[in-house]
Amino acid sequence: MDLKKFVAIVPDWPKEGIKFKDITPLMADGEAYKYATDQIVTYARERKVDLIVGPEARGFIIGCPVAYSLGVGFAPVRKEGKLPRETIKVDYGLEYGKDVLTIHKDAIKPGQRVLIVDDLLATGGTIEATIKLVEELGGVVAGIAFLIELTYLEGRSKLENYDIKAILNY
Ligand code: IMP
Repeated sequence: MDLKKFVAIVPDWPKEGIKFKDITPLMADGEAYKYATDQIVTYARERKVDLIVGPEARGFIIGCPVAYSLGVGFAPVRKEGKLPRETIKVDYGLEYGKDVLTIHKDAIKPGQRVLIVDDLLATGGTIEATIKLVEELGGVVAGIAFLIELTYLEGRSKLENYDIKAILNY
């Protein structure tokens, strides 16, 4: 299936010069959403993962159906002030801005094989921060999966020591 048909490219959003990849048409199409999810499920099986971790908000959209399909848990990574119990946090830089990400301190058991999932790899800042959170809690990053990789931003160069799967490349 040609999944690129379901990705809308929005020029100059949220800032001038950014060509935003909007995955909502893909999510709105049951077959396309399932097809994309199934590819990540297959990858997760290969990597023998026992927990999915995804950053808000689109990491939930991709990660939760993968967790459901595998019958494993999902742990959310969120912006500061959103998680109700004790958290650890990390500062990170974005393609357009700066922020803080957090995870519940008890979200991962030491030694658990974690698949990190997000909709899109841009500069890699979000995933680098998510990796730090997972590893600080003793998780093993068994793989990282994206629906989309913006290869021209070279985010992968920040993630050299990890196994990466991207369904679509731009
Ligand atoms: P990075 O940290 O620079 O790799 O940016 C990736 C994060 O920003 C992901 O969580 C994406 O959801 C979001 N993001 C950046 N660019 C886009 C885009 O073009 N479409 C959708 N999300 C984007």
